[in-house]
Amino acid sequence: MKHETLVSEKASEVWGYRKMRTVEIQAKSILSESKIYEWTINPYRGCQHGCSYCYARFMKRFTHHRESWGDFVDAKVNAPGLLAEEVKKKKVGRVWISGVCDPYQPIEEEYEITRRYLEVLQGNGWPVTIQTKSPLVLRDLDLLKRFDQLEVGFSIGTGDEELRSIFEPKAPRIEERINALKILHREEVRTYVMIAPMLPKTETLPSQLQGKVDYVVIDKMNYHYADWVYRKYGLERARMNEFFAQKGTELAYLFRMREIPCQLVF
Ligand code: SF4
Repeated sequence: MKHETLVSEKASEVWGYRKMRTVEIQAKSILSESKIYEWTINPYRGCQHGCSYCYARFMKRFTHHRESWGDFVDAKVNAPGLLAEEVKKKKVGRVWISGVCDPYQPIEEEYEITRRYLEVLQGNGWPVTIQTKSPLVLRDLDLLKRFDQLEVGFSIGTGDEELRSIFEPKAPRIEERINALKILHREEVRTYVMIAPMLPKTETLPSQLQGKVDYVVIDKMNYHYADWVYRKYGLERARMNEFFAQKGTELAYLFRMREIPCQLVF
C-alpha cells in the first residue's frame, strides 16, 4: 500500500453469501483535482455494490487485495480530519463525492466518513456534488439542507428491475433510488440522474423521474468490463454505438417532452 497505512482489518459476511473484507487505513492526502469538477474525494477504496461494469475496479491495482471487486473495502478512517486541514489550504471549488466508490455504500452506515466529510465542507462553505445509488443518503438530509450549493445525483442505468439485478446485483433497487430522489426533491435539495451506462429498457424513466429531478445526464460509459454480462444475456446489441446513438437520442427527446433538462454526453 503506497500512500496509506493499515490500521486494522476484519472479514464479515454480507449479503448472506459472500465474505467482505474491511480494512481500516490512514490516508496521506484526501482532496484530489478532478477533470469533472474542481475536486474529488473518496471516503472508501473499493465499493460493496460491485457493479459488473464499474470502471473504478482499476483501483484494485493500488491495493493488496486479492478479493474480487465488490468484496473488499478500505475505510479511510482519518480522512475527515485530513479534509478539515486541507480545505483551509486549498482553493474553494466544487467537490465530487465520489469518483471511484459509492459514498453511501453499506459500510457508510457504520463508519459515517461521508457524513463527516459533509460536515467539514458545509462548515467551510464548499459546494458539493454527491453521486450515489443508495437511499442511505437520506440519513444526512438535515445536513444536506444546510448547504448553499449542493446537489445529489443517483445513477440509474435502466428502468427495468430484472436488468438492474443482472448488472448491479448488490446495489439498491431502482424503486428505492427513485423514492429517495422524490424525498430529496420535495425537501428542495437539487437532484439529478446519471443514466450511465445506458442499458436497455430506459423508456419508462422519463415518467418515473418527472417531478423528482432537476436534470438528467445520459452517457454510454462503455468500458467493456461487463462484456461477459452482455454476452451471457444476449444483450450484445446494447453495447454498440448504433444502440447508444438511437436510444440516447430517443430518450433525451422523451425527457425534454416532459420539460426535464437532459444532456447527452457522448
Ligand atoms: S456503485 Fe459506482 S463505484 Fe460502486 S461498484 Fe457500482 S459503479 Fe462502481
